[in-house]
Amino acid sequence: MIQNLTKSVKYLKTVGPKRAEILGKLGIYTVYDLLTFFPRDYEDRRQYKKIAELKYGEVITISCKVEVSNLMSVGPKLKVFKSAVSDSTGVVYAVFYRKHSYKYDVFKKLKEDFRSGNRVILHGKVEKFRGVQELNVEEYELLTGNDADLIHTNRIVPLYPLTEGLTNRYLRTLIKSALPSYSRYFQEIVPEKYITGYNLISINDAVRQIHFPDSYESKEKARVKLVFDEFLLLQIAMEFSKRQLVEKNKGCSYQLKKHLLSPFRQNLGFDFTKSQKKVINEIFRDMQSRLPMNRLLLGDVGSGKTVVALSAILLAIENGYQTALMAPTEILAEQHYYTIKHFLKGLNVRTELLVGSTSAKNKKSIKQKLAEGEIDLIIGTHAIIEQKTEFKNLSLIVIDEQHRFGVIQRKILREKGFSPDVLVMTATPIPRTLALTLYGDLDVSVIEEMPPGRQPITTKYATERESYEFVKKEVSNGHQAYIVFPLVEESDKIELKAAVQESKRLSEKIFSDFAVGLLHGQLKGSEKEKIMIDFRNGKYDILITTTVIEIGIDVPNATVMVIEHSDRFGLATLHQLRGRIGRGKEHSVCFLLGELKTEEAKKRIEILVSTNDGFEIGREDLKMRGPGEFFGTQQHGLLDLKIGNLVTDGDIINKTKTCVQEIVNSDRFLSKPENHVLKSALQRQYGGRFGLPQIG
Ligand code: ADP
Ligand code: MG
Repeated sequence: MIQNLTKSVKYLKTVGPKRAEILGKLGIYTVYDLLTFFPRDYEDRRQYKKIAELKYGEVITISCKVEVSNLMSVGPKLKVFKSAVSDSTGVVYAVFYRKHSYKYDVFKKLKEDFRSGNRVILHGKVEKFRGVQELNVEEYELLTGNDADLIHTNRIVPLYPLTEGLTNRYLRTLIKSALPSYSRYFQEIVPEKYITGYNLISINDAVRQIHFPDSYESKEKARVKLVFDEFLLLQIAMEFSKRQLVEKNKGCSYQLKKHLLSPFRQNLGFDFTKSQKKVINEIFRDMQSRLPMNRLLLGDVGSGKTVVALSAILLAIENGYQTALMAPTEILAEQHYYTIKHFLKGLNVRTELLVGSTSAKNKKSIKQKLAEGEIDLIIGTHAIIEQKTEFKNLSLIVIDEQHRFGVIQRKILREKGFSPDVLVMTATPIPRTLALTLYGDLDVSVIEEMPPGRQPITTKYATERESYEFVKKEVSNGHQAYIVFPLVEESDKIELKAAVQESKRLSEKIFSDFAVGLLHGQLKGSEKEKIMIDFRNGKYDILITTTVIEIGIDVPNATVMVIEHSDRFGLATLHQLRGRIGRGKEHSVCFLLGELKTEEAKKRIEILVSTNDGFEIGREDLKMRGPGEFFGTQQHGLLDLKIGNLVTDGDIINKTKTCVQEIVNSDRFLSKPENHVLKSALQRQYGGRFGLPQIG
């Protein structure tokens, strides 16, 4: 039974308390942990090379007989154990270099194993010593009986992630000896029909084959099965959490009345793109259903999410409800307020802005109007819902640029006793399958194309001089420019040119003929706003700034961006920053400055120079950093994946998603016998997480 697997590893032969502690560093406490500690890679040691064929520099495996062995010193600190070994084609020296300080035991064991006449399999690299070829042995195995029992050679050999005090040789031996007695206790969580339907191997075989595969094909089958199990559990946990969210009827309904939507579309001055139409349909369908909408709208910077959100907002208002649009910062909220007022000109939509810097008097009056239903659209920061703000009949909440908004805020909403429709928008370039898994409790819509007529942004890795010259030229032609610095204050630890000091130098020396503004995160909200508005209104030619402008700012006349120390920013940030230009009809250029000291920094610049596609950049970013860093560590449990890969296992993720739908649709509480094992696995693994309801 499963209890056998929860036994502590310290009871296994050769482990004991000291080794158990080291294993604990790898997260291995129980036998289950040990057997689900999967190899990070494999090495093919099935093919034996003939000694006569050995070539310098190759890593190979040979099967041979020991002729004579000898231990000698090759310097004050180094000893070498040297053994002449032979096969039918020739003789070669097998060598083990070890420090003098090595324990006596090591050499004693070598002497025993390499007695004349013993048969051994050696794996290592062909090197040269004083012109003579020798095999520097990495692993060896003594042949005593059956070849099939070999652990470290003569097979596809697993390589594990290690920690100090633990060798591959030890882990391999430990796992190999535990497998026969324990792998059979693994239970099948996947219902029989999917095992057959998707041609999966049994969990017991998978556990054995992932460690000691018979072939690369069987290793792959084992991996597929284990990834399948892992995502099946994860998705089902998410599904439960999602169903809990939408269980309640939202208690409001919408009809397409169009007395606002039609004039809005006519006023726009452009047509929606195909993609925008598609996502608007998805949103409207959700809104017209009985159940609350929980939808994530994904779209690259500049893809036109605002007008999509406005369409949803107008549908709600047409039906007499109130709506809220929330942004992560005051600047953004304010920017939305002005853009939206512009789009809604001539329509009778009562719109107000509510942010921290709104005067106390205005706040009071706005809150009162909200409670009385005299405001249709309130725009502000998250504080709107987190504080005590009362609405008469709020039915739709739109959250901009905040993909982290989620579980917690939605919980607050539910606790306030109502289930409004929620639309979350983000430009964080998350590949679709990943979004579906990561936000399994949200439905996902993607805007896949950019509005027509956009000039792609040219991105260059350049020198300060080249970029400043270009800035001067563009600004003289009436355009505007951003210069972005990574920090605000000079830090004595990292020597960076800080925005405050640099702006002085730039405005007084380099750009003395132009109007230069400075915007950074440590200014007061109202000051920031003033500078932003002034920049938009053309009062400044050049805005020196930090990453505070990363999201949302829309100044189509800005056509140049210079990013100083671009090596200090991550890919996603650089892409977001760059998205501030290229917003008008004019061709825009982004200059990346900075020393590229690391390979990673180089790679990042290469990617940015080669593409403007946010989703492609997102994929590269994920590849380079892994989901852990990409999303930050607080991302609920998803990063504990043992074998599945959110980025590359999209196919399996889709399959498990289908299974999960079918399983939960036909057995809401997993109470049927065939789902029994699945249910207990779910509770073991995710009980309490994702706000899972009790399903026991
Ligand atoms: P984001 O998705 O980054 O929030 P915005 O909503 O700010 O993008 O849109 C970027 C710009 O594109 C805005 O100036 C907006 O008015 C414009 N825009 C949006 N949709 C279209 C369209 N279908 N055709 C032309 N321009 C559009
Ligand atoms: Mg936006």
